[in-house]
Amino acid sequence: MNVASASLLTIFGTAVGSFLNVCIHRLPLRQSLMWPGSHCPSCQAPVKPYDNIPIAGYLWLRGRCRSCRAPISIQYPIVEIATGVTFLGGYLLFDSPALLIQRLLFACAMVVLFVIDLEHRILPDVITLPGIVLGFVLSLFLPPGWRDSLIGIVLGGGSLWLMGELYFRIRHEEGMGFGDVKMLAMIGAFLGWKLMLLTLVLSSFLGSIVGVAIIMLNRGDMKYALPFGTFLAMGAMDSGAVGD
Ligand SMILES: [Zn+2]
Repeated sequence: MNVASASLLTIFGTAVGSFLNVCIHRLPLRQSLMWPGSHCPSCQAPVKPYDNIPIAGYLWLRGRCRSCRAPISIQYPIVEIATGVTFLGGYLLFDSPALLIQRLLFACAMVVLFVIDLEHRILPDVITLPGIVLGFVLSLFLPPGWRDSLIGIVLGGGSLWLMGELYFRIRHEEGMGFGDVKMLAMIGAFLGWKLMLLTLVLSSFLGSIVGVAIIMLNRGDMKYALPFGTFLAMGAMDSGAVGD
């Protein structure tokens, strides 16, 4: 491994994380990602370029807006650090630059879906639907190959849709959102059906551990809807670390 390129890619990752923060903040509000530039949500003051530096900006502003002193969410540096670490992890895991780019694009989408589902309980179509297409197109040249990708889309979307449908017939309430169905189809498109199934197993396992903990803490309140997309994103990030 080359320390210089690993460091550069990690720093680049934190800058990408900064852009992912913009996506996380603006996509649920259906705002443009390009315009206007970064500004304080409280006083609308534009963020100075030197305050917009990933992680460092948050540190020297001590987590507050330069103009109005309104607190800046800790989510901003956390997403920047997580994305930087993900880029470093990808660099260490993948020798093929093409596969590395494919997995990093996928990981960025998972980071955005993770936070948006956690905060808003939605998985925007503007990420999942183009994600299914992009994952399939890339699979024409890269692992898992177009056959595994196509099976991943159909099996991923289909299995979750069927589970949701069965749950609805039995319990007469919505158990699974259609967003989860499209997200798992996207995971199948990028990773292929085998790693998609691994993702489903990992995220169901994680989800049930957290679910049991919440039920115990809430003394048996089953109504607390868990954001399944958040668990799918975690499972997919682990599964995506497997080569092909
Ligand atoms: Zn402000």
